[in-house]
Amino acid sequence: MAAKKIFQQEIPRRGTHCYQEKEILDPHMEYYSVLCEADDHATQRFDFCAKCWKEKAKSEWIAKAKSYWKAKVFSKKEIKPPDLSRDDRALALLKKAKATEGTLNAAELFVLALYLARRRILVLREDRKQPDSHTNLYEDIHSSEMYAIARVDLMNVQLMEIQKVLASKLAA
Ligand SMILES: [Zn+2]
Repeated sequence: MAAKKIFQQEIPRRGTHCYQEKEILDPHMEYYSVLCEADDHATQRFDFCAKCWKEKAKSEWIAKAKSYWKAKVFSKKEIKPPDLSRDDRALALLKKAKATEGTLNAAELFVLALYLARRRILVLREDRKQPDSHTNLYEDIHSSEMYAIARVDLMNVQLMEIQKVLASKLAA
């Protein structure tokens, strides 16, 4: 079954120049964007500087626009550096814990693995019960790297505490 599409429409990104007079759309400039539908139903996008929009483009384009909006070009200061997703950070924390002893304790590591397994980043390959230990063998589905992680029996109260600790380590 095909995955459910969550984005209904492909929308082109903003152009670097005004469509009419080709002025560069610089940071802080106001501009107007128009979306139209092409014959093949693809979405076309046209961007105009405020001057061209007011003088000419508005009257020409508004009738054929499916939608249009006014916006402002972001300045570099307004654009935050990309933040790794929580899942990427969780996997990075697991790798760090494997490489550097003391990064996490056993309970934290186990809870982190449960999270990654729930996110389908790790898959449980084996639940290995031995007389003196109980270990889960996980595989990283992207790198095939394996992790053998001791199961820890946790009370709900402890689980919540550990989740809090992990959340703060993931935010760091
Ligand atoms: Zn212009």
